[in-house]
Amino acid sequence: MKQITLLGATGSIGIQTLEVIRLHPDHFSVYALAFGKNIEKALPLIKEFSPKVVVVQDKTIKEQVESEFPAIQVLLGTEGMIAASTAADVDVLVNAVMGSVGLPATLAAIEAQKVIAIANKETLVTAGHLVMEAANRYNVDLLPVDSEHSAIFQSLNGERPDTIERLVLTASGGSFRDKTREELKGVTVEDALNHPNWSMGAKITIDSASMMNKGLEVIEAHWLFDIPYEQIDVILHRESVIHSMVEYKDRSVIAQLGTPDMKVPIQYALTYPDRLDLSMTKRLNLEEIATLHFQPMDYERFRCLKLAFQAGKEGGSMTTVLNAANEQAVELFLKGKISFLDIETLIEQALESHQTIDKPDLDTILAIDQETRSQVCSYLK
Ligand code: NDP
Ligand code: MG
Repeated sequence: MKQITLLGATGSIGIQTLEVIRLHPDHFSVYALAFGKNIEKALPLIKEFSPKVVVVQDKTIKEQVESEFPAIQVLLGTEGMIAASTAADVDVLVNAVMGSVGLPATLAAIEAQKVIAIANKETLVTAGHLVMEAANRYNVDLLPVDSEHSAIFQSLNGERPDTIERLVLTASGGSFRDKTREELKGVTVEDALNHPNWSMGAKITIDSASMMNKGLEVIEAHWLFDIPYEQIDVILHRESVIHSMVEYKDRSVIAQLGTPDMKVPIQYALTYPDRLDLSMTKRLNLEEIATLHFQPMDYERFRCLKLAFQAGKEGGSMTTVLNAANEQAVELFLKGKISFLDIETLIEQALESHQTIDKPDLDTILAIDQETRSQVCSYLK
């Protein structure tokens, strides 16, 4: 029986993680659930899974949960997420919060030697060197939940790192894959939130439309698999059936395939190195799909992907700036304050004005994250 702390329980990955847990009550139980503000969604989950600890982001919500569930310990904010992730009873931390706010809990859980199922890619983009250094030092498994990274992880199984030629990440193309840059000028928030293959949280759906999601994933792959950026490629693959691949020196290519359903990589991160039944997920039927499409990436069309490669190669604090500028710009877009193409312009301005700091420590990263967000808002004025 694995006891799980789930950060981001009310989100898209959080809810699907709970579906997997619900399916295997003999294997998993919930130690703690953490969420932000969505109390309506959270209350029935707390009732059903009876965690020992609940973490929320707001004092009023804390009082509400306490009055509904007097036997449950309710904690607050980042300190609360750290306590819930490092408690002695916890075996696995599933980090599925949105944004760099997930970083301190990830680092603390690594130091407490918990297994970590990581969906929160912003953690690796903003501070990949700190996270990987700590994971290596404490000999902790960092198991990818992101479907591309789960695919690569599965395709690397047992192979020697020096035999890898390159990693190939597949990209569905997001909501605007068939639009020209001219057509992108007039797109709305509603258009952007309409992803063709995956139903996900708002921020990552916008990231998919701008292709920044793939950029963040390139940086995530660099850190998780210790591969130089020159050996990471991206290919457009509309159907999201091949979730990513590894090419070896002998020209063998190993890929992982399946129906696009996040429960598959979520469950694999929870059961690794075992596998359990997942009958609720549709089996892959290649005869029905019949044709798979592939296209080279156009880095001028998808400028955010180019910016992410540039920031990744520059390294140091540049990816902290990339991530924070993107989080802030996407928030402004979702609030209707800027246009879709302003997202990449604001990120580019933030990157250009930043002087890279090599190997920044946690305090420096948190400070740069905040500064970048304010700077992006000030460009707006
Ligand atoms: P959602 O927006 O659906 O959910 C985000 C979760 O994080 C919610 O539970 C939210 O709580 C919580 N949250 C947000 N801000 C804070 C905060 N400041 N403190 C504490 N909790 C907070 O996101 P997704 O589930 O789509 O994505 C989560 C992560 O997983 C992201 O890093 C994303 O890139 C990654 N990912 C997602 C995939 C997907 O299919 N959705 C696929 C691969 C990776 P509340 O809503 O209650 O405020
Ligand atoms: Mg992904």
